[in-house]
Amino acid sequence: MAAAKTFYAPPGAAHRPVFFYRLNHIRAASRFKTANVRQKGTNTTFVNHNAKYQQSLHSLIYPFGFELCGVTAAVEARTFASFERYIGSGMHGVMTHLAGQGEARRHPRSILPGVRSLIMLAVPYAAVLGSEPHPVKQLTGIAEYARGIDYHTWIRRRFKMLISVLQEKYTDARFRGVVDTAPLLEKEFAAAAGLGFIGKNTLLINPHCGSKIFLAAVLTTAVLTAAERDEAEVNTPAPLCAAASCGNCTRCLDACPAGALVEPYVLDARRCISYRNQFTAEDTGNSFFGCDICQNVCPHNRHIPHTAEGNVDPFMLDAETLRVMTKGSPAERRHRGV
Ligand code: SF4
Ligand code: SF4
Repeated sequence: MAAAKTFYAPPGAAHRPVFFYRLNHIRAASRFKTANVRQKGTNTTFVNHNAKYQQSLHSLIYPFGFELCGVTAAVEARTFASFERYIGSGMHGVMTHLAGQGEARRHPRSILPGVRSLIMLAVPYAAVLGSEPHPVKQLTGIAEYARGIDYHTWIRRRFKMLISVLQEKYTDARFRGVVDTAPLLEKEFAAAAGLGFIGKNTLLINPHCGSKIFLAAVLTTAVLTAAERDEAEVNTPAPLCAAASCGNCTRCLDACPAGALVEPYVLDARRCISYRNQFTAEDTGNSFFGCDICQNVCPHNRHIPHTAEGNVDPFMLDAETLRVMTKGSPAERRHRGV
């Protein structure tokens, strides 16, 4: 996740989503015909049909700050063959952990034996970074997701509490929270859970929250899918995301200065500025850490809140000052990778 940026994104993942919701402060897109159900006592609007089920699980998850949530079945990843082809092409570059854990990405059971369901979660960058004071915010050339505390830290803090609450409800189940580092094809499962669709820039895009979102997952041995739903619901795709796509747009491919989006849905990481300033010592111009160009041009990000860039040029600072200013942010991993 680039946070949610990963380096391959074949289209076509389509497990049945179970539910999807959004906060009602996110502007509704009128072109989507959805069944909205306001949950009493919260500011949340669900977008799907199974309101009763949504309310029970959502009421547990919402207080932990995840703005998007969906559940899907733990099955073999349908895009695993695409992932293998990607690794075979060598476009992952020096991210050997992708190749090394390749087979583990075939099925989420490699992360949690006996897993039956995945609770897919997302939170916009702005919700994590917006009010958090951090010296890295003063710097220029830092990708938005890195302008503040490391999102892994933010999410892991909440996992502990969230899982203990889920454990009280599903007493016999086991849970495991993962963010980014576990071998999970998380964009596929997030799309399957109704959180968004995979765009030509290889990122998961939510029609309301855009692509500047952090993804996380809670795997569980509990059956949270069809067993808790009416038969009619099983056959109901998430209306919001099923209707959304890139359409004819090619802005991200046209705008990428490195030609890293070699074709729609395929990112050659070796060319990508974000990869190069994290995993190599190559010159990436004014980009100190990460790159947001293919997200900034995306029309789905037009209306989302942004975390402003600073005005201090990091290339003018000495190493110790930089170390202090980036400490605790993903930007401290410059040239060191993950
Ligand atoms: S625009 Fe930047 S982040 Fe996007 S693919 Fe190109 S180099 Fe990578
Ligand atoms: S810029 Fe256009 S083509 Fe690229 S991800 Fe966004 S909508 Fe899709």
